[in-house]
Parts: sequence; C-alpha cells; structure tokens
Amino acid sequence: MKTFYLETFGCQMNAHDSEKVAGTLLARGYSQVETPEEADLILYNTCSIRDKAEQKVFSRLQQFKSGAGKGKVFAVLGCVAQQEGEKIFEKAPHVSLVAGSASYGKLPEMLVQLEAGNRHVTGLSFDADETFETPITRGDKPHRAYITIIEGCDKSCAYCVVPFTRGPERSRTAASVMAEARRLAEFGYTEIQLLGQNVNSYRDPSPEGWDFATLLERVAEIPGLRRTRFTTSHPRDFVKEIVDAIGRNPVLCDHIHLPVQSGSDRVLERMQRLYTRDEYRRRIEWIKNARRPISITTDVIVGFPGETEADFEETLALLDEVEYDSIFSFKYSPRPTTSALGLDGHIPEEEKARRLSILQEKQRAIQMRRNNELAGTTLEVQVEGYNQATGQWIGRTSQNRILNFTHPEGCRASLDGQYLQVLVTRAGPNSLAGESAGENLF
Ligand code: SF4
Repeated sequence: MKTFYLETFGCQMNAHDSEKVAGTLLARGYSQVETPEEADLILYNTCSIRDKAEQKVFSRLQQFKSGAGKGKVFAVLGCVAQQEGEKIFEKAPHVSLVAGSASYGKLPEMLVQLEAGNRHVTGLSFDADETFETPITRGDKPHRAYITIIEGCDKSCAYCVVPFTRGPERSRTAASVMAEARRLAEFGYTEIQLLGQNVNSYRDPSPEGWDFATLLERVAEIPGLRRTRFTTSHPRDFVKEIVDAIGRNPVLCDHIHLPVQSGSDRVLERMQRLYTRDEYRRRIEWIKNARRPISITTDVIVGFPGETEADFEETLALLDEVEYDSIFSFKYSPRPTTSALGLDGHIPEEEKARRLSILQEKQRAIQMRRNNELAGTTLEVQVEGYNQATGQWIGRTSQNRILNFTHPEGCRASLDGQYLQVLVTRAGPNSLAGESAGENLF
C-alpha cells in the first residue's frame, strides 16, 4: 500500500489540512498519484457545509467501490467524517478509515493500523493538544503557504455544522505561528495566508496574549515575505485595529473577506449571527476609510427559513451600498444537528433559486463596474501559472483579483511566483486582462 490519491472538497482550511495529510503520507514513503485507479490508498477530505458537497463524497465512494475487492483501501477525512463518525462504515462498508481534522496529528498511528490490515480505524476526538502539531506539511503552491492559527468555532450560527465538525475554538501559540512563518519564509515562500474559521477571535494562549491584529503585524514584519493574507473573519469580532494594521503595512494584502450572510436584521437574528446590519455597516465604513483602498468580499445565504421578499430586498440594497468586489452566494442548505432545522418558514427550492439568480445578476453588474474602473491602471501581480489555451500568464493582485496577462517572452520565460507590474487593458466581471509592464520587481 504505497501510493495514494487524495481529493479535497470545501474550504481553504480543508485544502491546507490536505497538505498536512499528503506531507505525512509522503514522509512515510507513499507516493501521490493523479487518479484513484492508480492508487492503493484513496482518501477523500470532505466538506459538510452543504448537502451537495456531502452527497458528492458518497457518490465518489460508490463509484470506486469495486476497487475495495482489488485491495484498495478507502479513507474518509474531514467534516463528513466528524459529523457521521462510525455510521460511515455502515453506509459505505468498504471504507477503512474515518478521521476528523482534529485527529490528523495521529495519522501516522492510524496508518500503522491500516497497514496492519485493520479495516475499521477511527480518529474522531477533539484533543486540542493534538490539533496543530502536525510537523510535516507539503505545500501545493510553490510560493504561497498556509498556516492554521485557530481551529474550531465557539459561535453557533443556526445554519452551520462547523462547531460540530471542528469542535471548540483553540488558538495556537503566537511563538509557534511565528516560528512556522519564519521557517516558510526561509524556504522561499513569499506569501503566507493565516487560516481559521474565525481568525478575528484569535488570542495567543501564552502569557504574551497577542490578539489577531498584533499577530498579523508581526508576521508581516518577517524578512522575505511580500504578502500576508487571512481568512476568514466574523464581523462580530472584527476590530478597527485590523484595518489600521493593513493601512500601515503594505505586506498585508489590501483585501478583507467579511461574511455578512444577510442584509436583514430579522434574518441575522434568526441566523444567530450576533451582529446587526448597522454594526456590520460600521465595520465596512472603517474599511472604506482606511489609509489605502481595501477590497471587500463577502458570503451571502439566500432563502434562509423565514426570509421574506422584504428581507431579501435588504440584502440586495446592501450589495448596492457596499459594492463588494466579489461574493460567494449560496442557497440555504439544511444541515444535520443545526438549530435552523427547527425554524419555521422553510423556503421552496425554486424560490431560493430565483433569489440566488437575482442576487448573482446584481453582483455581476457591480463587479463589472468595479473592475472596469481598473482599466488603464498598473497593478502588481504574483504569477500563479501559464494558460496554454489563451497564451496568457495568470497573476493574482494583492486585492485577490485574477489578472491574466501577456508577456513579451510568452511561455519561454519562467515567471511562476515572480512579482510583476501589469497594465490592465480589459475587465470582465470575474477577472482582468492586461500586458506585462516589463518591470520585474523581485
Ligand atoms: S462563525 Fe458561524 S458560520 Fe462561521 S464557522 Fe462559526 S458557526 Fe459556522
């Protein structure tokens, strides 16, 4: 059992967890392959935030079920594993390992059990001490690295499974975060993304007791780092010091993702989001008044139980007011164990779809307008790759926009990971296009 295939569903936290899992497997002598057919060990790192994501995993397991007879071993990791636990062995008897994210530190021991032929191995505890100290990580991106600074969540948003699948909030010590960030910078990473379900409630558990804004500034001071990002924020814990820090230090990317979910106070209360529309707008005001322009993005759920047409209109009005640069928008999806299941006023699927399409159409127009304003400007990008089909390089701006661009050397140059100045010549709703302004700053 020496090759593995790992597929990841869901958020950035999961993507980073998968890096840790892959690193652990590589260190044990496994090699990674591109398809499940080639693999001895098939792992799915799962997401249960929406029903669709969960169903996808079970359909994958079904699809490759016959492989179990040929000696393949299957593992379900992540949020569905934590949520369903040992029930997965009943639903999919060919699965041998079920482990939640808090147990990845014990992965080497679990692999020993699997290699010994044990066909029901579990890792489902929330042992805080084991959460972060997974020493081996393998970066999927050559120049961008991720660091988990806080795990779990102590909020109880009515629609969300995360407190059940990732457990209570646990912050990592600032010393450990800083040591990892320095090590990554020494390895040549120039961008670091700090991750957590709610990075704003980060609190260093050691006597120094740094808050998130302090940690952010200290990480950005590490020599060699060009960009530092973070995700995701909860508006209730979002403080002005974070905006001030971004204003002061250009290494901190000028982008804040601040999930609002709804523009209606009535819906926010039913969602148990712990802030009002006005409190949210105050935070937006801080961001808009920052020393330098900061891009704002958000998450929106439409069709939450009890959402009226008037509530929905309030969300649309908020989009107009804030003018987000991008949004992630979803239809409400009922999830097991969440308190929203007990609410009245469930909205029919067709109505949710109608609202989602209106919302997305409005946002598309806003993005088109916002992106058009950038035509003619020169922006710095970090190069992420080359698109053979279009003959363009793919860059990402500090504000997290994708900027595809041509370069005089075409694909002959090796630009991956470099920082270049690019003149924006065209704008679309989801990306920008341009040409290299010729100046390589790095
Ligand atoms: S803050 Fe709310 S939405 Fe975010 S992870 Fe916690 S419970 Fe879920």
